[in-house]
Amino acid sequence: MPIAKGYAATDASKPLVPFTFERREPNDDDVVISVQYCGVCHSDIHQARNEWGGSKYPMVPGHEVAGVVTAVGSKVSKFKVGDRVGVGCFVDSCTTCATRDPDYEHYMPGLVQTYNDVEADGKTPTFGGYSDSIVVKEGYVLSFPDNIPLDAGAPLLCAGITLYSPLRHWKAGPGKKVAIVGMGGLGHMGVKLAHAMGADVTVLSQTLSKKEDGFKLGAKDYYATSDAETFTKLAGTFDLIINTVGTAIDWNAYLNLLKYDGSMVLVGVPE
Ligand SMILES: [Zn+2]
Ligand SMILES: [Zn+2]
Repeated sequence: MPIAKGYAATDASKPLVPFTFERREPNDDDVVISVQYCGVCHSDIHQARNEWGGSKYPMVPGHEVAGVVTAVGSKVSKFKVGDRVGVGCFVDSCTTCATRDPDYEHYMPGLVQTYNDVEADGKTPTFGGYSDSIVVKEGYVLSFPDNIPLDAGAPLLCAGITLYSPLRHWKAGPGKKVAIVGMGGLGHMGVKLAHAMGADVTVLSQTLSKKEDGFKLGAKDYYATSDAETFTKLAGTFDLIINTVGTAIDWNAYLNLLKYDGSMVLVGVPE
């Protein structure tokens, strides 16, 4: 079996260490990828430290994987050697069960996450992108367009989709007032994406320290949530609020900022 080198967590408290392991022998529908970059998602840290429970060690984290195809199985039709590709948070799902819906395979019981999980055989551990190679079924590999660099684009594979999905689902676009709560790894993606979709974007952040960045990324307004006046001034303003903050905040105060029939989406995962 192909040998891979990576970095693994061996328990919840120690730093990651170099780790050599086997990837599976590629199947007919597999793509072999030389990993060039991998984002460090906060959920990598949560899982390496077992902050959500259920961590399996050794664990090779990483689900914002960007690289180049080095081999393809005989039935692979969408990719060829040399293609620039990405892998996100999951690498397999149900293919046969009755509840299968191709648009919702990330909710299916047969979901296989990129790491800290087991393959469909129920026993082979999955290892993520903090490694030099990965073998992934064609259907779970994404193409990288030429205009997106692999390093800067890697975080789109988790942080990006986390914001893109609710913005699309709740139809952010021209004429819609969207608030992004928090200006961190998720929030800044939300500002760029909502702006690109044509929405009118406001950032609600604890302080105004990242205000200039917010405007550069496309925000039209920027308010400090540490200022109580923000919540009176903006009452009833937004069609959509996307809350990227994982810590406990007063959601009721934010609900009050919605227009009638508006929506608030929580995407920050707490500890
Ligand atoms: Zn992630
Ligand atoms: Zn299923």
